[in-house]
Amino acid sequence: MALSGIQIYKLLPQTNCKECGFPTCLAFAMKLAAKQVELSACPYVTEENKAQLAESSAPPIRLITLTGGAGKGAGGEVKAGNEVVMYRHEKTFYNKPGLFIRVQSAESVAAAEAYKVNYVGMDLTIDGFALEADSPTAMAETVQAVRAVTKRPLILISQNPEVLQAGVSQLPGEKPLLCGADASNWENMAALAKTCGCPLTVRAESIDGLADLTEKIKAKGVEDLVLDPMTAHLGKSLALYTQLRRLALKNTRSVGYPILSFACNATDELAAASQAIAKYAGFIVLSEFRPELLYALLVLRENIYTDPQKPIQVQPGIYEINAPKPESPVLVTTNFSITYFAVANEVEGAGLPAWLVVCDAEGMSVLTAWAAGKFDAERIAKAIRGFDVASKVSKKRVVLPGHVAVLSGELEAELPDWEIRVGPREAVDLPAFMKQALN
Ligand code: SF4
Repeated sequence: MALSGIQIYKLLPQTNCKECGFPTCLAFAMKLAAKQVELSACPYVTEENKAQLAESSAPPIRLITLTGGAGKGAGGEVKAGNEVVMYRHEKTFYNKPGLFIRVQSAESVAAAEAYKVNYVGMDLTIDGFALEADSPTAMAETVQAVRAVTKRPLILISQNPEVLQAGVSQLPGEKPLLCGADASNWENMAALAKTCGCPLTVRAESIDGLADLTEKIKAKGVEDLVLDPMTAHLGKSLALYTQLRRLALKNTRSVGYPILSFACNATDELAAASQAIAKYAGFIVLSEFRPELLYALLVLRENIYTDPQKPIQVQPGIYEINAPKPESPVLVTTNFSITYFAVANEVEGAGLPAWLVVCDAEGMSVLTAWAAGKFDAERIAKAIRGFDVASKVSKKRVVLPGHVAVLSGELEAELPDWEIRVGPREAVDLPAFMKQALN
């Protein structure tokens, strides 16, 4: 049973040495109770107390890490697990489900490997590839061919441990996901996973079946497991994944593992993969590289896994769009990434030069920031002065977002030598406004 923060505190050294990164042992205990830190961050817990705390400090869903040929770091590893809530608004979701493309041909691997899409300043890519083969030789050759093109983490698929062994032997130092164990082969699969130190999937149709297998495989010394609930039916997988998450969060250790979703087997792959992203897959296998499907999934995943308490932000400053000249207009917005890119993309796409002043509004959009008192005349004036906008322009004229037209009077008082204009409410209307009202 999980311990409370106070119960955990009693088992800590209580010296407040701060080495864990928290000012007091009590603060660390509270974070530990909320599963937001690892016990290993405190080097002074006694072995006896560690054993007592282990159960409480272990995350309800085990963290599983796959590593590829590039080792740790960007593009080199995929993590799943460590989630602590059912719903994102309760806190946040931590590890985005990895998107894996099933290998169809060397050309498709190269195309998927090269795929990159920029979304509000972030480059989004796939995470890895899933390989299937029916003989050891075929698996070894496929792994070699894929590794000639990409270093991303791999999922190796076969019901035969010898086939998986042949694949793993081509990946020294890596941790691919072995897929996987079922009721017929679990002993040999567990032996392979233990020998090579790779995570192993466990396949069964029911929760009882999954729990039974994970317990047996754990008893063989394999801790890193991933659940493969087998269903491709949208309704059934939604119910099953939700039950698994709920049970895991109630500390049912036998199902406290990330879920592998074969969205590729569903009739409607996009719907299945979207559902798996939202609820509650850790790894998702797609049938092939289809950019139009991938783009939607990558953007959806980014939105689901953005911490609602930490909006994605751009650096406050003055941004040059289309090589502005001194006579080009000065636009103002906030540093919420989506707001910034909405404005910048519209103006840039229209080929209009402009200076874009991005105010520090703690990552909020224009209206939210205004309502929260983070985007007012004083802040805007401070940004315009602080970024020395006057030295870059010949005409002191600034365009306010239409949503905060109410600030124009106050801004005139703050910037008496500037002309204050009120622009449109929506970024999409900016180009027309700039052509008609600013010339
Ligand atoms: S490192 Fe351990 S002893 Fe030091 S403050 Fe943190 S919890 Fe307390």
